[in-house]
Amino acid sequence: MGELKRISIVVPVYNEAENIAHFARSVAAVMEPLPYAYELLFVDDGSRDRTREILMELGAADEHVQSIFLARNSGHQIALTCGIDHADGDAVITMDGDMQHPPELLPELIGKWEEGFDIVQTVRLTTEGASLFKRLTSKYYYRLLNLLANVEIQEGGSDFRLMDRKAVLALRRYREHARFIRGIVGAMGFRKTQVEFVAQERFAGRSKFSLHKMISFALDGILAYSVQPLRAAFYVGVLSAFFAVALFLHVLFETLRGETVPGWSTIVVCCAFFGGMQMMMLGICGEYIARVLQEVKNRPLYLIAQDNRRNPTENRIAAEGREV
Ligand code: UDP
Ligand code: MG
Repeated sequence: MGELKRISIVVPVYNEAENIAHFARSVAAVMEPLPYAYELLFVDDGSRDRTREILMELGAADEHVQSIFLARNSGHQIALTCGIDHADGDAVITMDGDMQHPPELLPELIGKWEEGFDIVQTVRLTTEGASLFKRLTSKYYYRLLNLLANVEIQEGGSDFRLMDRKAVLALRRYREHARFIRGIVGAMGFRKTQVEFVAQERFAGRSKFSLHKMISFALDGILAYSVQPLRAAFYVGVLSAFFAVALFLHVLFETLRGETVPGWSTIVVCCAFFGGMQMMMLGICGEYIARVLQEVKNRPLYLIAQDNRRNPTENRIAAEGREV
């Protein structure tokens, strides 16, 4: 038998002091019997409670437990990115540390990976104890997102997933700041499959996503994957141009009948015409901004799933001028 394959489990945590010990025990109970080497990599997202101390204790007691401490609270998606950047497993699993992503699902994710899938995405069917508000906003948000964005983003998709190392290397090449990781992974390609689950209630504590954080996350999702809002000005402009022409005909008609106040025709037609022109120009600017946005994000142009040349040269990094 060769060396065991390595699994990295990446867990961003923010003020989860009451959860992590229980979570780490549950993960260990599931992972220990499996024939894999594994690391449980916590990324402490600038917690202000006892999370740090507890992670140090857990690490001292169990060599599987590793942690990285961020200097400040940088948000779930950034903490997740840090973990993905530093995980060295053959497969990397990302999950939350509050027991809402059940550790019992880990063997199933790994099983799918062994079947040959590069990305095993979980889909949350329902969340036990979730408020009506959270359920409805989540549902309609994904509808809106799919309507606006040209990439399919799974309703109920979460950041609980397994990625093969090659998908991880691909994901690491996306360095955009406003990150919506489920969108990036959704658009990445590779061999994908899904596993469904029912999210449990949080083991302890409250959600770390304030309404403010949720709204900015939701905006990131739309703005990172859609330039439709920018394009809207152009369509409105075209519509108002049509409106201006119709209005012009109407004004012409009224003027010929001689039933207008002097000056009225010019003002009305000018307003409609220039309003339409401004909207259209805004739309054109929007198109440029959309392209600037795309270039600034500097996403990789392509991702290679497999290099099947006889003598693959290692020029991938040199060609792109940056580390993966
Ligand atoms: N989290 C984080 N940084 C933050 C907010 C949350 O690392 O700024 C972590 C949190 O500790 C948890 C995961 O991200 O492990 C998901 O957060 P939470 O459970 O609060 O979100 P919800 O399940 O309510 O959507
Ligand atoms: Mg949670």
